[in-house]
Amino acid sequence: MERKIGVYVCHCGANIAGTVDVEQVVEFARSLPSVVVARDYKFMCSDPGQELIKNDIREYGLNRIVVASCSPRLHEPTFRRVLASADLNPYFLEMANIREQCSWVIEDREAATEKAKAMVSAAVRRVFHHDALEKKEAPMNPCTLVVGAGIAGIQAALEIADSGKRVYLVEREPSIGGNMARLDKTFPTLDCSA
Ligand SMILES: Cc1cc2nc3c(=O)[nH]c(=O)nc-3n(C[C@H](O)[C@H](O)[C@H](O)COP(=O)(O)OP(=O)(O)OC[C@H]3O[C@@H](n4cnc5c(N)ncnc54)[C@H](O)[C@@H]3O)c2cc1C
Repeated sequence: MERKIGVYVCHCGANIAGTVDVEQVVEFARSLPSVVVARDYKFMCSDPGQELIKNDIREYGLNRIVVASCSPRLHEPTFRRVLASADLNPYFLEMANIREQCSWVIEDREAATEKAKAMVSAAVRRVFHHDALEKKEAPMNPCTLVVGAGIAGIQAALEIADSGKRVYLVEREPSIGGNMARLDKTFPTLDCSA
C-alpha cells in the first residue's frame, strides 16, 4: 500500500517553540519521502489540534501519522484515539519526543532545531514500516507469589491481599519475619520489631 504520511509538529506553547524553530522543522518534514502534509500548531493535543489531524486523515487519505511533541507517555493514547476516530488503525502512529528529549534539554536554538529535524526524520522512516496491530485479550491468573517473608514480603503480601487478590507468601526459614524478627527494638521509633 502506498504510504501517505502526515507530520504534525506541536509548539507546546513556548515549551517547544521557545527553543525549536518549529516552522523550519515543518518545512524540513515536507521534503521527506512519503510525507503528504506537514503542519504545526500551538497545542496539538487540544481539541482543535486533534481535529486538524482527523480532518487531514480524511481529506488527504493519510495512512501513517507522525506527531512531534511531548513524551508518548503523556499523549500517545490521545493521538491513538484520534487515528481510531478517523477509522485508521491506532498503531499507525509514531511520536517524536521533541520536548523532553530536545527543547527541554538543549539551550542552543540551532542545535535544538537540528535535533528536532533528525528526530522527525527518524519517526517518518519508522512509521513507514508500522503494521496494523489488533488488541487481544488473554486469560491470566491474578494470584501473586511473594518470595521471602521478611518485613518487606509480609507488607507486600498484606497490601495485595487487601486489594482482593489471592496471595501466596513463601519463606525458606521455619518462621517469618526475616531480620526484623531477630531485633529487639528498632531505631528510630524503638518499636518492638517482632
Ligand atoms: C543488626 C541489624 C539492625 C537493624 N536495625 C534496624 C533498626 O533499628 N531500624 C530499622 O528500621 N531497620 C533496622 N535494620 C534493618 C531491617 O532489619 C531490614 O531493613 C529489614 O529487616 C529488611 O527486611 P526485608 O524483608 O527486606 O529483608 P529480610 O529481613 O532479609 O527478609 C528476607 C526474607 O526472605 C527469605 N528468603 C530469602 N530468599 C528466599 C527464597 N529463595 N525462598 C524463600 N524465602 C527466602 C529470608 O529467609 C528472609 O526471611 C537492621 C538490620 C540489622 C541486620
